[in-house]
Amino acid sequence: CFQGNIQLQMYHKTFAPLNFSDYEAISRCEQELPEYFNFASDVLDKWSQIEKERKEPSNPALWWINGKGNEIKWSFEELGFLSQKVANVLSGPCSLQRGDRVLVILPRLPEWWLLYVACMRTGVVIIPGTTQLTAEDICYRLLASKAKGIITTDVLAPAVDSVASKCQFLKTKLIVSESSRAEWLNFSDLLKAAPAVHNCVKTKSQDPMAIYFTSGTTGYPKMVEHSYGSFGLGVFHCGRYWMNLTPSDIMWNMSDTAWVKAAIGSVFGPWFQGTCVFVHAMPQFDPGALLNTLCRYPVTTLCSTPTAYRTLVQHDLTRYAFKKLKHCLSGGEPLNPEVMAQWKSQTGLTIYEGYGQTETGMVCANMKGMKVKPGSLGKAAPPYNVQIIDENGNVLPPGKEGDIAIKMDAKRPFAFFTRYVDDPERTASTVRGNFYITGDRGSMDADGYIWFMGRCDDVIISSGYRIGPFEIESALIQHPAVTESAVISSPDPLRGEVVKAFVVLSPSFKSQDPKKLACELQVHVKKLTAPYKYPRKIEFVQQLPKTVTGKIRRNELRNKEWGQN
Ligand code: ATP
Ligand code: MG
Repeated sequence: CFQGNIQLQMYHKTFAPLNFSDYEAISRCEQELPEYFNFASDVLDKWSQIEKERKEPSNPALWWINGKGNEIKWSFEELGFLSQKVANVLSGPCSLQRGDRVLVILPRLPEWWLLYVACMRTGVVIIPGTTQLTAEDICYRLLASKAKGIITTDVLAPAVDSVASKCQFLKTKLIVSESSRAEWLNFSDLLKAAPAVHNCVKTKSQDPMAIYFTSGTTGYPKMVEHSYGSFGLGVFHCGRYWMNLTPSDIMWNMSDTAWVKAAIGSVFGPWFQGTCVFVHAMPQFDPGALLNTLCRYPVTTLCSTPTAYRTLVQHDLTRYAFKKLKHCLSGGEPLNPEVMAQWKSQTGLTIYEGYGQTETGMVCANMKGMKVKPGSLGKAAPPYNVQIIDENGNVLPPGKEGDIAIKMDAKRPFAFFTRYVDDPERTASTVRGNFYITGDRGSMDADGYIWFMGRCDDVIISSGYRIGPFEIESALIQHPAVTESAVISSPDPLRGEVVKAFVVLSPSFKSQDPKKLACELQVHVKKLTAPYKYPRKIEFVQQLPKTVTGKIRRNELRNKEWGQN
C-alpha cells in the first residue's frame, strides 16, 4: 500500500520520537504489544514535541467550527495543555479515580475531545453516549455500567436529574454549560481554576480504557470494553493505510461522538498520524451545509456513512467545487455500488469502504492504492486474518457463503475488545473453535476480497434459497425511482419466507401508480440478480426505521411483518 520502502523509512525517521516502525510491526503482528501504552503520553505528547521542533507551520490538532461563525483551532501543544487541566478537574473536584467509569454524553463540542484525552491521562474509563438518549436510556447505561460520573450539557441534565436517585453508583455530575446548575459541578469554572500540570498515569496495554455500547441494531446494546492497546495501537494501521493520513491532511469524520467510529475516525486514526481532526458541529445531518463546508475548508479526507452518501448523491454534486477533498471513506453499513458509482462520476473520487465492529475495530477494508471492487468490503486489514467458515469452523473455499470470522491463533488478536462487560457467556459465545464470529455472512473471492451478504439474522431463506438483503437493495437502488430500501423476509404459506422490500421513493416518482411501479421494480430486480431473488412483496414507505447511527433496522421491520413486537 505504501509506495516504496525508502519513503517508509524516511517517514519513520522524520517521526522517530513516535516509534512508528514499532507500531507498524505491532500492527502486523510481527512484534509483541508493549507492556505499557498510553495514547496521551506516548502519541499526543510526542506530536506536541515534534510540533515545537518543526520549523514550518503545522496544521492544528483540532479544528472545530459550528457553522454559526464560531471556530476553534488547537495545536497539539494546546490540546496537551488543556487536556492536562481537564485531567486535574476529573481527578480533583470530580473525585474520579483511575478505573472509575464516566458516562460522557456530549454533542460534537471541543470539550468532548479534551475529556476523551483527559480520561486517558487519568486512567478513568470513558463511556461515550449519544445525545439522543432518553432519561430511561441514561438510567439503563448508568446502572449497567456502574458509572461513578456523568458529563453532559444542560439539554440532558434534567433527564439525568429525573433518574439520578435510582442510580446508586452515580457520585459526580459535571455540566458543560455557560450557566450553573444546582447539584452539578461546572466544567468551565473548574477548568479555569485547575492546575496546569498533570502527570499522565502509566497504563498497561491491557488496562481498560473505554466502554462502548454497540449500535443496538439487533437488540439491546452490548457493553464492549476496550483497552489502551486494543484501541490506541489497534487503530494505527487503519489511520495510516485505510484513511491514508499524514500530518498534512485534514480529516473530517462525521460520526456521532458516541460510536466507535468517532474514536477511530476522530481521535486515534488521525491523531496517531499527526493529522488535523476537523469537526463541523451540525446538530443534524444537513447535506447542503456539508457540501458547502467541503467547498470552504481544506478538508482532504472525508469519512461518512452509506446513508449520508445516499442522500448526497441526490444533489447535483457537479455544482460544488471541493477545496482539497481527495480521499473518501465509508463504513458502518454496506455501501451500494450504485451510490459509489454516482459519487465517482460526479466528484471524480472513489469511496473506500471499510468494514468493522465495535468489538473489533476495522476488520477489512479497501486500502488506498488497492484495486477497489465496488460492493466488496476489501481485504482483511492487519492485524486480522479473516476467513469464511462453516458451522463447524471449517474454512470455506472461494465463492462459498458462510460466516465472516477472524482467526484467533494461540491468543486473541491484540486489537480485539477485552470482553462484554459482566457477560462472560456472551463473550464466550463469539468464539467457535479457533475463530471469532462476527455475526455477519459473506464470501471471499479468489483474490481475497470479502463480499458482505448480510447480518446472520437478516439472511432470508425462501424455498431453500439463501438470499442476502444487501444484493437486492443494491439492485433496487439502481432504479431511478428508489432512494433507499430495506429488504427482509415475509411469511408465506407456500415458500415459508419470501422477499419483501420496503422502498422509499425519489420525490419525482411519488405520484406514480404504486401497483405499476411495484411491477416495474420487480422486473428491474429480476434483470439484475438471479430471478428467484426478486421481491415478491413491495411496500412504499416515507422512511425506514434506523438506529441513531443511521443504520437500517431491518429487525424492526421484520418483527412487524411477522407479527412480533
Ligand atoms: P448490535 O451489535 O448492537 O446489534 P451493531 O452490530 O450495528 O449493533 P456496531 O458494532 O456499531 O453495532 O456495527 C457493526 C456491524 O455493522 C457489523 O457487524 C456489520 O453488520 C455492520 N457493518 C459495519 N461496516 C459494514 C460495511 N462496510 N458493510 C456492511 N456491514 C457493515
Ligand atoms: Mg454487532
